[in-house]
Amino acid sequence: MRSNPSDYEMFAPGSLRAVVTLLANEPGQWLPIAGGTDVMVQYAAGKLAARKLVSIWNLPELRRIEITDSEIRLGAGCTYSDLRKHGTVEREFLLVHRAACWTGGIANQNRGTIGGNIVNASPAADSLPALLAYDAELILVSVRGERRVPYERFHTGYKKTLLAPDELLQAICLPRRFSEYFSYARKVGARTAQAISKVCIAALGRLADGVIQDVRISLGSVAPVPIRLMETERAVNGRTIDPDLLLLAKKVAAAEIRPIDDIRSTAQYRAAVAGNLVAEFLNRLSSSSVESERIGVLARWNRSSIEEATAALFPCCGSKAWARGMAARRPFANDAELLRASDETWWSLTRSDWIEGFNSHPRIGESRPVTSSSTQSLAAQSVEWSAEEQRNVADAGTDFEAVLADANREYEKRFKRIFIVCATGKSAAEILRILQGRLKNDDDAELQEAAEQQRQIAQIRLRKWLQDEVKQ
Ligand SMILES: Cc1cc2nc3c(=O)[nH]c(=O)nc-3n(C[C@H](O)[C@H](O)[C@H](O)COP(=O)(O)OP(=O)(O)OC[C@H]3O[C@@H](n4cnc5c(N)ncnc54)[C@H](O)[C@@H]3O)c2cc1C
Repeated sequence: MRSNPSDYEMFAPGSLRAVVTLLANEPGQWLPIAGGTDVMVQYAAGKLAARKLVSIWNLPELRRIEITDSEIRLGAGCTYSDLRKHGTVEREFLLVHRAACWTGGIANQNRGTIGGNIVNASPAADSLPALLAYDAELILVSVRGERRVPYERFHTGYKKTLLAPDELLQAICLPRRFSEYFSYARKVGARTAQAISKVCIAALGRLADGVIQDVRISLGSVAPVPIRLMETERAVNGRTIDPDLLLLAKKVAAAEIRPIDDIRSTAQYRAAVAGNLVAEFLNRLSSSSVESERIGVLARWNRSSIEEATAALFPCCGSKAWARGMAARRPFANDAELLRASDETWWSLTRSDWIEGFNSHPRIGESRPVTSSSTQSLAAQSVEWSAEEQRNVADAGTDFEAVLADANREYEKRFKRIFIVCATGKSAAEILRILQGRLKNDDDAELQEAAEQQRQIAQIRLRKWLQDEVKQ
């Protein structure tokens, strides 16, 4: 039956205080409406029981994202687009970011809110498994004040919640302790966008020496409420990932879920898919452990002080302006972003910054840098990398050293700075040929060439830095 608009009343008091006062004065009479993407579907279908709607759309108190050292607090009125665009959400809460990206289409993401997804309480809602995986807590607010409840207790049954008739969901708090976990999320539906999930999964995992330290696996659409697979988690924690473990995980997961047949799928299909998703998560966790550890290195570096972050990168390129510039551009989400920023920062520097970078290297054929670094340990790291990079030159013998020394002297006389070449993988003869060729350059062209060589060296060293940190 179609709804008649004149049967409905809509009020927009404009502040959180005024809304909770209205809810307290007439408990159960007013239905909050945020983006309206669920409410209006019910309205259009003639299934909306409430006749009085109170708008909470765009209330500033519900639209904030606050970050403290220990948690991020997402206002319940944040839209999926707000979440998609937020750097910290993307970097540290990838599961929330992914769910925001595949909820509905763009129009729906501009309007639908995370609070609406939670309170609407569909077992198929896409953002809910992520909240379980991250140990989210909810802040509920009324005229009586605020209360904080663990999200895992919020859904008390199919479409039932802990929310009292006079309460609003104010914010969702996610602890910032999972940024170093491997994240895995998938939605299985008729399509990724504009389709309700048949099964969705959000999982986090951490390995050490190939052994599972901790996994957190949550599923949607396989029970009356989104669930965490605690039995499955217990069965795999502390184990190494091999084909036997995958079989066991599938079996335990299948016993833990309670899927049903409905218009979108069958219980049997959902059980099979859920088991496969759990196995795929564990497989990916095992193969991407190195990548996730590298992201962990970056996450730690992102959080370190500006001095520590500058010092850590200094051996990769001995220009202080470059190292400081990189530290100031943090945070970086992954290796690719870091490497891209290195190039951009390097090309933005002055001639004297470049020359400072060149002088932090030893001459080709020598082992000590032209200028010594103020910090011994950093100098030691740079010297060690230079030795690796110049291995072929060192192996070429003393006669060759003498030829190179003459060529270096000629270069320095001509350009008044040391010769820089990215020596990795090049033979001694090749390096000599390059040096002799570059003696023909004019000063500007040669400066650009040397800067390009230093850019390449920084790229190689940044990759080594990430790898070496993982090994430590
Ligand atoms: C075309 C389309 C595609 C969609 N695709 C997806 C999808 O892919 N995945 C998915 O999970 N969902 C999807 N949805 C459902 C919907 O968009 C989401 O559930 C959305 O998050 C709802 O948010 P809203 O702000 O629009 O909620 P509303 O419709 O405004 O409210 C929903 C319910 O939550 C209550 N509520 C809202 N905010 C609060 C609050 N702060 N405190 C207390 N109660 C509150 C309302 O009273 C109501 O009961 C889709 C909907 C449409 C129309």
